[in-house]
Amino acid sequence: MQDAIQADHLQRFIFDSAAVRGEWVQLKQTWTTVKMQREYPPAVADLLGQMLAAAALLAETVKISGRLVLQCRTDGPVSLIMVECTSDHTLRGLANWQGEIADNASMQELLGKGSLAITIESVDAKHPYQGIVSVQGESIAEMLEMYFAQSEQLQTRIWLATDDNTVGGLLLQQLPEQDPELHDENWQRILYLAETIAKEELLNLDVVSLLYRLFHEEMVRLLSTTVLEFSCTCSRQRVADTIKLLGRQEAEDIIAERGFVELACEFCNTHYRFDPVDVAGLFSDPLNIQNDSNTVH
Ligand SMILES: [Zn+2]
Repeated sequence: MQDAIQADHLQRFIFDSAAVRGEWVQLKQTWTTVKMQREYPPAVADLLGQMLAAAALLAETVKISGRLVLQCRTDGPVSLIMVECTSDHTLRGLANWQGEIADNASMQELLGKGSLAITIESVDAKHPYQGIVSVQGESIAEMLEMYFAQSEQLQTRIWLATDDNTVGGLLLQQLPEQDPELHDENWQRILYLAETIAKEELLNLDVVSLLYRLFHEEMVRLLSTTVLEFSCTCSRQRVADTIKLLGRQEAEDIIAERGFVELACEFCNTHYRFDPVDVAGLFSDPLNIQNDSNTVH
């Protein structure tokens, strides 16, 4: 149990005094590992961290077997931010940027025009679900709240924070309730208390201390805890598929020039090297391979 508390984790909770549920997440090790892959300018790391915390919170709300991907594509200096959280509770993420990035650049300056897509790939569903919201507002949390406002009946509020060592997030969501007047009154009261949350509290307090500080006048019950960790879903097979997409000519040109084809995973920096025999194998007819193995040896 001590390990679970020390590790990156997500805590679900529920109010007994209002039809409201919540999730809290704090990631240190995962965040350190994500940041290690590239030298992110501070303002880019800030956005990436917020997206990472958001992915963990949203993945927990959808309860699927598969993965949830948040992807921000824009025409701004930060052209791509992509984060993924799987139902195995693993996370990965990256951001692409161009040029000099000012430390105090706002989200609008970093992203410009574009969209944030929420994709849910379930092993049980034939097609992935995708929701899209345009880049707007002042923060990732605000964009996600707009997404919830346009796509879901239940009101949702999200707070996200990043610093060098930690990313943190809090999500509150209305639950169905019979009495609409009481529902709204309870929701407003909980939000009023939650609005006092400071970035430092999200990043530095443990969940029990935070919930007590915000909601000590309410009745809050802790539900399950989920341990989260960094893990990459890349594989040699996926890289092989990418090389096949490049085409035989392109792959052979690279072999002629360098003697091998090597691709690095952008999420985890694992290098996958394919020598001339590997590459020939990728483009040969499976029947020929069979024949080769019969005749050569
Ligand atoms: Zn990888």
